[in-house]
Amino acid sequence: MSPSALRLVGIDAYYGPAQALFGLDLEVPTGSVTVLLGRNGAGKSTTMKAIMGLVALGQGEIEVGGESITGWPAYRVNRVGVGYVPEERRVFAGLSVMENLLVGMHDPDVPSQARWTHERVFDLFPPLAALRDRLAGQLSGGEQQMLTIARTLMGNPGIILLDEPSEGLAPVIVQQIVTTVKTLSAQGMTVLLSEQNVRFAAQVADRAVVIERGKALLAGSMTEISNDERVRDAYLTP
Ligand code: ATP
Repeated sequence: MSPSALRLVGIDAYYGPAQALFGLDLEVPTGSVTVLLGRNGAGKSTTMKAIMGLVALGQGEIEVGGESITGWPAYRVNRVGVGYVPEERRVFAGLSVMENLLVGMHDPDVPSQARWTHERVFDLFPPLAALRDRLAGQLSGGEQQMLTIARTLMGNPGIILLDEPSEGLAPVIVQQIVTTVKTLSAQGMTVLLSEQNVRFAAQVADRAVVIERGKALLAGSMTEISNDERVRDAYLTP
């Protein structure tokens, strides 16, 4: 059996003296779309930051494709093919859409036919093509979200981490993000996303992990998890 794309075993993570993750376990199978479900403050963002080496770790092990990356800084994690789109969706406001994409470009050992180019990114996000010369700071929230995902893809990741990609966006943009995640998955990418809304998650994810108070409480197929009463009570509004 091929190793998981990502594996976290017993991760403790800290912000200064405050512990945010408590022995968190997580398995992201290669090629899956796995969603981290949990309320505000449960530890979803911290889990992604732990993978990216952006929080202090205590105990635990993190592996990418079976190789340990525990304690690695973000740039090194990125180089082994992990792309990260943080919740804040930062763009370079003073650069154009096209320039933002060029900043994100780098070429690990990806065969040229599989490499991301601006043309391929514009196919995925048609609205961005028309905005290629626009300053990123002048884009709407939804357009900025597309741009941050697009810029991350230009780094040719094999795994992409999307922190609450639908948060605060208009329904039409949320549908665009659903389509994007499905397309990326169909092209073989492994996706880990975080979400508070089970309905959105159910449209894209095949696996789900419920995080509560810095621990993984439940893990299973999206169908199993969304039919679990505890999950329904906590995350589905009647
Ligand atoms: P949200 O949807 O609000 O981002 P989350 O599930 O992603 O929720 P985290 O942001 O990972 O939750 O937060 C986990 C815990 O870590 C919370 O108790 C939070 O208060 C704490 N925390 C997060 N960021 C910091 C920080 N920069 N400094 C101190 N504590 C933090």
